[in-house]
Amino acid sequence: MVSEKSSEALFPLLSIARLRMGTDGTGVTTLVAGAGCPLRCRWCINKKLLSDAPAENVSAAELLDRVKIDDLYFRTTGGGITFGGGESLLHADFIAQFRKICPSEWNIYAETSLAVPRKAVETASGCVSFFIVDCKDMNSGIYSAYTGGDAERMKANLRYLIETVGPQRILVRVPRIPEYNTEADQKRSVSELKALGIENTDVFDYIIREE
Ligand code: SF4
Repeated sequence: MVSEKSSEALFPLLSIARLRMGTDGTGVTTLVAGAGCPLRCRWCINKKLLSDAPAENVSAAELLDRVKIDDLYFRTTGGGITFGGGESLLHADFIAQFRKICPSEWNIYAETSLAVPRKAVETASGCVSFFIVDCKDMNSGIYSAYTGGDAERMKANLRYLIETVGPQRILVRVPRIPEYNTEADQKRSVSELKALGIENTDVFDYIIREE
């Protein structure tokens, strides 16, 4: 017999960063970082997240207990919780459980590369208020050279998300990636995104700090 407890998704918690403003969502947000990512970006600043970094598995109720201290800030500024990582949508089932028990006034943001199975995007579309998508580059060759992943999967998931939640609930980050793309490539990505209906883009440069 499967108990209710055994179907509960757990979140591999790496860190919690409170009282963030204007970096990853509207108002005051708390960034909750989880372990794991399917991509292998050359300039990833979170390499330790990609290996089996020790993470504490927490339930939705346990996480709520830790972040509810900022309830008033979230309510008064239109903020909430930003799930990041790593790849937040690897934990879409957990986010859905958390959404059910957290105050309905909180916004839930997800930072994602969309390099995940469609099922995860379907689940997230029902519980995430706003998506912050790091597309890397819309060109398949540049994308796979930089991430080791498949741009077509990301694009198919992005099209699905646009159809399901609407472009107003999506911001796409378009980085200039040293050694991988150029300003002209960035402009091409932005044009392709606009053609898909995305108006919210964040065009910026990666700053590389080699260890
Ligand atoms: S998607 Fe983000 S966390 Fe994953 S490898 Fe790329 S930079 Fe690192």
